[in-house]
Amino acid sequence: MKQWFPKEKLQKAFVDALFPEYNSCHLCGCFADRAGILCSRCAHELHAIQYAKRHVVSPEAHAPLKICLSAFPHRDGARELVHLLKYESDCAAADLLCEAMAAALAISPLALNHLDVVVPVPLHAARLEQRGYNQALLLAQGVCRRTGLRLMDGALLRLHATDTQLHRDRAQRMEAMRHAFASSDPQAVRGLHVLLVDDVLTTGATAVSCARALLAAGAASVSLLTVCRA
Ligand SMILES: [Zn+2]
Repeated sequence: MKQWFPKEKLQKAFVDALFPEYNSCHLCGCFADRAGILCSRCAHELHAIQYAKRHVVSPEAHAPLKICLSAFPHRDGARELVHLLKYESDCAAADLLCEAMAAALAISPLALNHLDVVVPVPLHAARLEQRGYNQALLLAQGVCRRTGLRLMDGALLRLHATDTQLHRDRAQRMEAMRHAFASSDPQAVRGLHVLLVDDVLTTGATAVSCARALLAAGAASVSLLTVCRA
């Protein structure tokens, strides 16, 4: 469990207050590299856990998804940055994370010219209002900026809010997610090869449900790209 006010946050607040001309590291709170959001030590540690070519593809199949790609395992700095992005409005983290996602895509077996559009996993309207932004959309935008792929936000609708599901097992999550998504405009995705973008691949229930909705609307294929794989 995270502390309410961990020492990293205290240190970050200290650096930000006393040295406003410097950035502070979003992970450990000490001085960050000039243009970045991490210090050199945290950047090095993050890079060290980034998946190499043979690990970017999930070893587990999540049919009907064609292929599932991730940039990092769900631990250490990568996990913490996703947490900052999702729960602490740290949108700067998205930029760093989607750089790694684009790199994972580039070394994956999925060729860019076999993809047509990037679709972020949508948040339910109530959650979107509460958080103010959809972290998957921020990541999808960053991936599109770096790859030249076309963003198609709004291709999917989230029909009902699901809770955080932390207490559910895989079968329960699959069942709860079964009808959670629908295509907003079947004409829009017909015949397209879709790259779905989300923050973390855990059981795959969310992505599988999205893929089913897109394929039912006539998408030619659906693959997944996430920051982390649990
Ligand atoms: Zn640091």
